[in-house]
Amino acid sequence: MITRFAPSLTGYLHLGHALHMLQVWGIARARGARVLCRIEDHDLARRRPVYETAILSTMEWLGFVPDEGMTASSPDGASDYRQSDCGQHYASALRLLEEKGLVYGCACSRRQILDEQAGGEGELCYAGTCSRKGLPLQGHAVRFRLPGREVAFSDLRLGECRQVPRLQCGDFPLRDRHGQWTYQFACVCDDIRHGVDLVVRGEDILPSTGRQILLLEALGYPPPAYFHHPLILGANGEKLSKRQRSESLSSLREKGVSAAEVLGRAAHAGGLLDAYRPLALEDALALAG
Ligand SMILES: [Zn+2]
Repeated sequence: MITRFAPSLTGYLHLGHALHMLQVWGIARARGARVLCRIEDHDLARRRPVYETAILSTMEWLGFVPDEGMTASSPDGASDYRQSDCGQHYASALRLLEEKGLVYGCACSRRQILDEQAGGEGELCYAGTCSRKGLPLQGHAVRFRLPGREVAFSDLRLGECRQVPRLQCGDFPLRDRHGQWTYQFACVCDDIRHGVDLVVRGEDILPSTGRQILLLEALGYPPPAYFHHPLILGANGEKLSKRQRSESLSSLREKGVSAAEVLGRAAHAGGLLDAYRPLALEDALALAG
């Protein structure tokens, strides 16, 4: 099996990421899976390349070593594991969906989408206004034509989950009108290309799993196994101050906090450890797996 750690380049890593890495590597260890690291910087407007070096160096400092993909010692230059270098892969996946009639151009403004939205479960739900207009993809946002059916999947921690993406978000965008790829699309294309068959994610993004499965199916691939882990926020978040939750791991490191202390704090705040104590990586991984 192969799973992934896929940080975005929109900030430094914080304690929530330490818990996430612990879950990714812990579950991989317990199931004999390999871990790949890819940089999710599909959002060219928000990406800050300076974060890449900091993220990879922090990952290494904590002892998380990927079996494949980006590491602190990756050579400079384009990489198959950095989304901003992979536009041609997303373009060819989009052509496949276009041939199948599964995408369409959308000219709606955000205002219009808000005014016409079709319900949704706490998120913006696109009403399908442009689905039959036959607008060209070029120069417009590109939306994925969702089937109306329910998606059922089994999560390794939560058990059976059911979602109806069309009622949650409606036909969602794969590319915006400026040509920027979206997270959902880039992530699914990468998982296919990298052979990811075990996805470890925070449970805050559980609502988007069904739509990723529909996208995978449309591209001709079966869904991976999923494990959605609890977050630091919530009941266990009370163990940490707001400042502690948002403080970057790089700044903790600069202040002389050890990797074992960070791992202990993350495990404690994530509910894996009843009372805080510093943890060696091996012990921390055993708790997560
Ligand atoms: Zn539209």
